Amino acid sequence: MARDVKCTVENCKFWSEGRECAASAIEVNVDGGGQKANYTKETNCHTFQAK
Ligand code: SF4
Repeated sequence: MARDVKCTVENCKFWSEGRECAASAIEVNVDGGGQKANYTKETNCHTFQAK
């Protein structure tokens, strides 16, 4: 289980100072569907909620 998740998405309601994610859990999926990513930029946090 991931702990101490670092994140730079400042406009997410779970984001907190120090680039920390304050959500109890997050879900990350592959952009465009499927279950395999080739690059970091193809992954996406779907727990994001805009403030
Ligand atoms: S939920 Fe996702 S986008 Fe939001 S702070 Fe956590 S890791 Fe970042």
